[in-house]
Amino acid sequence: MTTYINFTVETDADGIALVTWDMPGKSMNVFTSDVMEELDAIIDQTVADSAVKGVVVTSGKSTFSGGADLSMIKSMFTFFNEEKVRDPDNAARKLFDLVGRMTGLFRKLETSGKPWVSAINGTCMGGALEMSLACHGRVASNAKSVKIALPEVKVGIFPGAGGTQRVSRLADAQSALQMMTTGQSLTAARAKAMNLVHQVVEPDQLIPAAKQMIKDGLKAVAPWDERGFKAPGGGIWTPASAQLWPAAPAILRRETAGNYPGALAILKCVYEGLQVPFDTALKIEQRYFTEVLQTTEAFSMIRSLFISMQELGKGARRPAGIPKTEFRKVGVVGAGFMGASIAYVTAAAGIPVTLVDRDIEAATKGKSVSEGLVKDSISKGRLTQDEGAALLSRITPSAEYTDLKDVSLVIEAVFEDRDVKKAVIEAVEAVLPEGAIFASNTSTLPISGLAKNSRRPADFIGVHFFSPVEKMMLTEVILGKETGDTALAVALDYVAAIRKTPIVVNDTRGFFVNRCVFRYIHEAYDMLIEGVPAAMIENAAKMAGMPVGPLSLNDEVAIDLSQKILKATVADLGEAAVDPKHLALINRMVDDLDRRGRKNGRGFYDYPAKPAKKSLWPELKTFYPQKKADDIDVAVLKQRFLVTIALEAARTIEEGIVTDPREADVGSILGFGFAPYTGGVLSYIDGMGAKTFVALCDKLASSYGKHFEPTALLRDMAAKAETFYGRFDPYAGTKEAA
Ligand code: NAD
Repeated sequence: MTTYINFTVETDADGIALVTWDMPGKSMNVFTSDVMEELDAIIDQTVADSAVKGVVVTSGKSTFSGGADLSMIKSMFTFFNEEKVRDPDNAARKLFDLVGRMTGLFRKLETSGKPWVSAINGTCMGGALEMSLACHGRVASNAKSVKIALPEVKVGIFPGAGGTQRVSRLADAQSALQMMTTGQSLTAARAKAMNLVHQVVEPDQLIPAAKQMIKDGLKAVAPWDERGFKAPGGGIWTPASAQLWPAAPAILRRETAGNYPGALAILKCVYEGLQVPFDTALKIEQRYFTEVLQTTEAFSMIRSLFISMQELGKGARRPAGIPKTEFRKVGVVGAGFMGASIAYVTAAAGIPVTLVDRDIEAATKGKSVSEGLVKDSISKGRLTQDEGAALLSRITPSAEYTDLKDVSLVIEAVFEDRDVKKAVIEAVEAVLPEGAIFASNTSTLPISGLAKNSRRPADFIGVHFFSPVEKMMLTEVILGKETGDTALAVALDYVAAIRKTPIVVNDTRGFFVNRCVFRYIHEAYDMLIEGVPAAMIENAAKMAGMPVGPLSLNDEVAIDLSQKILKATVADLGEAAVDPKHLALINRMVDDLDRRGRKNGRGFYDYPAKPAKKSLWPELKTFYPQKKADDIDVAVLKQRFLVTIALEAARTIEEGIVTDPREADVGSILGFGFAPYTGGVLSYIDGMGAKTFVALCDKLASSYGKHFEPTALLRDMAAKAETFYGRFDPYAGTKEAA
């Protein structure tokens, strides 16, 4: 019997080989070059062994597999980028072959002549689902943890190992397109309803059921390899398809504004693939996949949303040599809007929380937020009653600072007021054990200033959450001037424990995310003042790839908060630091009209009672003489939004606020949804090249103001044809270098 590193193969008395995928030293199975080689050898072995009647493939881990491995994708890009310089034609040809390797392997499995059944015991994503779809039978466990998905589109590519062809030959075209263009996860039951799995069984029945399929005479032939095969619904040339296909590109355009080449390629693969024999269809998919992989969008999205996000999540910025923190208890002070939710996410991560407010009523009210969230999760089947009860039992409301005497970390989320924070810092530090860390969730007060109230500024740090805390994946960790390495390590351990992605930022007004967000909102103020109709402003932003229009976003964060920040900026930095026209606009909205945003039901939008939808406030157009829509260039509006934000991000790098390009990119996408297809703020600049970006800035500056003027760093980078990832190489000096 052959031995493998990543698999075991055991053949039972019935002649069924059980192939168990269990990669040593990894928490999850992934496709690597070695895994593919071994799978290839297993196919050969099972074909050659006449005792083997059929094969069941499963995972030895709690998940089935997450799909392709980071290092494999990285090496593919490295190879391509290097070869492109030497010989572009050869680079494309080689990439095509590389891309086809997985496709060919799965097709070999499918046509091996012996029946294969995939026994899906947990999350099964990407390439792992594509392998399962090449098997002749698929059985999934009904465990809650089973998630089935082809999520490639979310990182700028698409299922390129037969996925587009097999899904569209198993499920109806509409469901297939929906699943692949959104990358949504399916439950086992939904996958069965879509005809992607044959059986859903109790977890302990998984392997017996898979083996039974073979014993029951499962054919070793895929449906599309049978004579007379027809795709569900009859293929492309049917009345139902005549309804679907003409609308499909329009729907995709509505959802993506044409910004995602990977999503469009899915439509092309399915539409073209369904018209030809299966092997030709696979070639079509392979060609589009090769093409999409060469786009700037795919490169940048994979780098930021797959590689960098994982690296930051795994503590890329954590100082070495400090033991990992086991949180025995965390304190949250201030049980208001933010504190209550911070307590929830902490308890949800299994960490006991003491939630302190000025009196026990306020603290208890804060805990009731978690009660509401738990109730909601139970009703949606995400938590069991017992899990919900356990989560709530971990939150102890209190009005006594002495209850913080045994915590490893305190997160302060009291009023945004220097004096209140000073009193809280002093009161907490009076009881806080030696070595425990104090983290402030302030959004506007510099950490170094707050740390002046601390007796141990080395243990003082900022941990800035975004609202809604339960949903937002990003946390900014802010270093004060005196913050020490231990505080940083503890803060990063905490962010990892609550399963969010951290970015580490040096102290500055607005930190990283809010500095960028306010540029976005201020550009919309400029446009309003120029007379651009509000609807065009909102739509141009969405066409540029922003998830929420700037006026809508300003309503969410509250217009009076913008006013407060503008006034504080004037107080601290002088009149010249803000645009007086912006202040006049906001003063009029807040002081004269009491339009504060969603919170009082009136802002740039009106918020009628549900189910009516919000709509732009019509009177806004009386503020400034309106331009005619035909006289406005939407392409320029789109550029202005992306460029003003990217420039601000570039300034944060130049000022040393953000030091690692990965953090600016990931922070911009997770923090405020910066056009994800760009790969983030700095990838947007790198993607077009510093020279082009500087020229664009100069052009915009001549028409729309000095804030578009490129910085000295950018001009220098343009002159030297440098990129942010080159000049501020995050891997410099490490063997991680890609
Ligand atoms: P909030 O007014 O909803 O809550 C503040 C809470 O602090 C209240 O429950 C209050 O009773 C309590 N509190 C005040 N003084 C206290 C004291 N001495 N001891 C104990 N508790 C005290 O405010 P919020 O929106 O949750 O903001 C809290 C902090 O989070 C602020 O620093 C804010 O800048 C920051 N922040 C807010 C947001 C947001 O979207 N609202 C986002 C990120 C950060």
